[in-house]
Amino acid sequence: VRGYSGARIAVLGLGRSGLAAARALRAGGAEPLVWDDSADARERAGAEGFAVHDLTREGAWRDVAALIVSPGIPHLYPVPNRIIASAWAAGVPVDNDIGLFFRSVATDEWDNLETAPRVIAVTGSNGKSTTAALIHHVLTYAGRESQLAGNIGRGVMDIDPPGDGGVVVLELSSYQTELARALTPDVAVFTNLTPDHLDRHAGLGGYFAAKRRLFAEGGPDRAIIGVDEVEGQYLANQMAESAADDRLIRISAARKLDGPGWAVFARKGFLSEYRKGRQIASLDLRGIAGLPGAHNHQNACAAYAAVRSLGLAPKIIEQAFHSFQGLPHRSQLVAEAGGVRFVNDSKATNADSAAKALAAFPRIRWICGGLEKEGGLGPVLEQLGHVVKAYVIGREAGRFALQLGETPHEVSETMARAVARAAAEAAEGETVLLAPAAASFDQYDNFEKRGEDFIAQVTAALARTAEPG
Ligand code: ADP
Repeated sequence: VRGYSGARIAVLGLGRSGLAAARALRAGGAEPLVWDDSADARERAGAEGFAVHDLTREGAWRDVAALIVSPGIPHLYPVPNRIIASAWAAGVPVDNDIGLFFRSVATDEWDNLETAPRVIAVTGSNGKSTTAALIHHVLTYAGRESQLAGNIGRGVMDIDPPGDGGVVVLELSSYQTELARALTPDVAVFTNLTPDHLDRHAGLGGYFAAKRRLFAEGGPDRAIIGVDEVEGQYLANQMAESAADDRLIRISAARKLDGPGWAVFARKGFLSEYRKGRQIASLDLRGIAGLPGAHNHQNACAAYAAVRSLGLAPKIIEQAFHSFQGLPHRSQLVAEAGGVRFVNDSKATNADSAAKALAAFPRIRWICGGLEKEGGLGPVLEQLGHVVKAYVIGREAGRFALQLGETPHEVSETMARAVARAAAEAAEGETVLLAPAAASFDQYDNFEKRGEDFIAQVTAALARTAEPG
């Protein structure tokens, strides 16, 4: 990063991406001053030759030009981070690795406009990882150099400088967009907005504001905006008023968009691209194993619009979609036996994403429960018609079960029991689906561990039924 050459830059948090930021700053001629609450982490950084600088000390901010905060560090919730607050009070600009990345895009060798790598940033409440991974997959399939970074893939500071015509696909959480001081992707994607993570963003207004910064005046060359909620409609309408015709692509998984602008939408399993009211292309999404359900069709629309923005043809996009494997723990097909499918959607930690997962399959043996999120089951209740029976796990299983009303259910408590029971009771044509609609921390370290346990239990259950006698 050249933008800070000669300056003293504090780096808070010395995990993988904090260290990568410190290295990039040093390589760019800045003097990184590093700090972490953990003495071990400080020692490791010291061993790499970084100057450890106590940011909790009186006068710590003298001659410091900026503070770079690592992604893992909560800055406002549950309590304002002391060090960040003291930087603010001292008038020191606070930034993160995403801000550093865009600063380097603007100031480093990336300035030949004809051949410069393109940066695509994906934001939104749900579907970011899937959309970013799908964009990366299609580009790679089509022979374009692509790197996946941000929340999935590598840390942004670990990216190899891309070659001519290369693409960087960034998945950005709202925590990241909130702090970054520079946010200038060429293509910005906003998938959707649901009231998750509100705790850290001072309510829906603050959360939406974090996303909206990406689409501000002088924003991306191309904005791709999901318009199935009012917030997306608002963003799109604001852009449509101020921007040239083809700067905006609206996407929807709910309705036909055949108005004057540029749009990509999915209905009844078909994706359509419209421009100026005329249909340009149509793709059949039905039967693509890696993209089941209307929610994945929304992700497909967003990814399609992003790669179209880079000039890819509809035909090759369609071919690439067919070889997309999906991501672990998101509508992941784990096994199929005796006409029963086992699907791991452990990432469905909130009611909205669980509702989307339930809507994607017709007859479901539903494994759910864990630590409930604010708002309870809400949108899930509308999808209970798809549920043959629910198997409730987790500490709050009893309370969870109460909300299921007339829907057949049992309290299984553990994953092992839930999978064993569901597998034993499932009939041909049914899907055993883990989509908890809850956080995992009562029984697991994280949603990945929960999904891995589901897979292990499915494997065990299928091995039992395969045993002779
Ligand atoms: P994110 O990175 O935004 O958390 P993921 O792609 O990891 O998104 O998906 C998270 C969860 O949300 C998964 O359980 C998945 O089934 C569900 N999901 C994926 N795409 C969408 C979408 N477009 N709308 C709603 N839910 C979605």
